[in-house]
Amino acid sequence: MQRILGVETSCDDTAVSIITDTGEILSNILSSQDDFHAKYGGIVPEVASRKHLELISIVVREALEQAGITQNEIDLIAVTHGPGLVGSLLIGVDYAKTLSYLLDKPIIGVNHLEGHLLSPRLFNADLRFPYLGIIVSGGHTQFMMVEDIGHYTVLAETLDDACGEALDKFGKILGIPYPAGPKIEQIALAGNPNAYTFSMPKIRDKTIALSFSGMKTAVSLLVQKMDPEEKEKNKADLCASFQEAVMKQILHIIQQLKPLYPFSGIAFSGGVSANQRLRDLAIHQSLRQVYFPSRILSTDNAAMIAYAGYQEYLLHGPMSLDFPVISRLEL
Ligand code: AMP
Ligand code: MG
Repeated sequence: MQRILGVETSCDDTAVSIITDTGEILSNILSSQDDFHAKYGGIVPEVASRKHLELISIVVREALEQAGITQNEIDLIAVTHGPGLVGSLLIGVDYAKTLSYLLDKPIIGVNHLEGHLLSPRLFNADLRFPYLGIIVSGGHTQFMMVEDIGHYTVLAETLDDACGEALDKFGKILGIPYPAGPKIEQIALAGNPNAYTFSMPKIRDKTIALSFSGMKTAVSLLVQKMDPEEKEKNKADLCASFQEAVMKQILHIIQQLKPLYPFSGIAFSGGVSANQRLRDLAIHQSLRQVYFPSRILSTDNAAMIAYAGYQEYLLHGPMSLDFPVISRLEL
């Protein structure tokens, strides 16, 4: 049996996981920095990299302990080397390279987006290529044709904000702490999704794309007109309606892509895919098989990095220790 150590520090979560070559997750540790960044209403890169530095060796130790193995029993090290915040990526990559050198174990740099795209395969053995891989997260909103390991084509993406970013910015307008997505979901349960309508963006040239800037401006103007009491009174309706508009836009893209490509399934990933309203709407509206990663694998995690790293390693072998960190790494 092969054991793969995954390390993920691309943004504000320090994550380490150990999985086996059959996809069994032996440990999956995540130390979130949300509380530190909530104070500033978003991620502060400098704060994020300092926190990674404080946490990385503790999280690695915890992952080994929970898996019940020593570091010598690791067979491969997989680490996110982009895209992400350079200062954050460097902490994970340098740590992983040092481990690789000291333990004399192979290492592979993994694209964070490939981790997300392949993550639904970890728990859904029946998900077959080609599938529509949908990354909906704080940093990305991309619809990809996933033909095989390493064969990905972008079919549609956002022209401005990522969908998680749009939710977080909307949350900021209402005074909901960062990251707002999960809190908006909770508040929305008591609201009416049809209380306010936010129109779909008008995209030129028949391009299939998303855009959240119009909705964001519309809701910001709407809330500006409310006094604090009204804002509080309408909070649940605003959350339900804005969330609905964001999710409907995602589903509208699926409806546009579906007749154009021969997908065998639709697989969501990324933090926003934890949203139950999105899950309900997707299952209700999609004709083809819809897959979601388990909730722990929706947001950033290292199990998906270990998994994607192992798949790439099987095809291409390890990387030499001088591979770079690339903040705008593409698939
Ligand atoms: P990621 O970038 O994949 O780590 O995901 C983080 C993003 O997902 C943030 O923008 C969160 O606000 C958003 N998010 C996390 N959970 C939920 C949820 N249940 N509903 C909506 N958005 C969410
Ligand atoms: Mg992510």
